[in-house]
Amino acid sequence: MLKDLLSGSDPAAPIAGEGSAAHPAIESEAEVRSEREARERVCELCRHLYTLGWASGTGGGFSLREGHRIFVAPSGVPKESIRPEEVFIADLQGQVLSAGHGRISACTPLFLHAYHLRGAGAVLHSHSLNACLASLVCAQRHGDGYVFRIRGLEMVKGLQGGHVDEPYDIPIIDNMPYEHELADSLEQAMLAFPRSNAVLVRGHGVYIWGRDWVHTKSQAECYDYLFAASVRLREHGIDASVLGRSHPRTP
Ligand SMILES: [Zn+2]
Repeated sequence: MLKDLLSGSDPAAPIAGEGSAAHPAIESEAEVRSEREARERVCELCRHLYTLGWASGTGGGFSLREGHRIFVAPSGVPKESIRPEEVFIADLQGQVLSAGHGRISACTPLFLHAYHLRGAGAVLHSHSLNACLASLVCAQRHGDGYVFRIRGLEMVKGLQGGHVDEPYDIPIIDNMPYEHELADSLEQAMLAFPRSNAVLVRGHGVYIWGRDWVHTKSQAECYDYLFAASVRLREHGIDASVLGRSHPRTP
């Protein structure tokens, strides 16, 4: 199953990090360049998350996948100042192949679910205030749990599988004392809501993934816009989960 999901990967191929450790001489120039670029990309995206206010106070995180290797930011460090050599490289079981600074992100078990269950090419964890507030202010009962539901806004079309006139549900899971303790409920939410590329964590933030880092970034921007819009509409007494073309305007 993993083989099918991880498009572009050849499970028979050796993990570059492992191969290079045993045979440093055969590490190709392309592999070295690719690894350096991936490390720099993680740093660049972490700086971007911080600039957006999504990684304040050492929160948040980012990871991308290249074949059978994932590149992960370190845990509990200022995300705006991570250097390429501080980025961890791990395999798809979470085993560290190349240590970075301190500890690997506590989000790693959650990132791995996005790689395994959804074939993601990159995953981010945001502590965006918009996501945090939306998970509290806009939560709606759905079965035994809660969802954030949005419809009627143009930006819904930016979400994978989103249609402006149809409700779009994003699952909300309960927060836990430690990040890794969210892994099981995040996995269940991913399985229960296959259309959503995001899982909100109540009073905490959101996990968002995509085909690659570009797709993940654009999905995150769309989701965050919708979280912000929904919270602000709520302040005006408008429920963004029932918006539509026929929705009456406010006086
Ligand atoms: Zn967090």
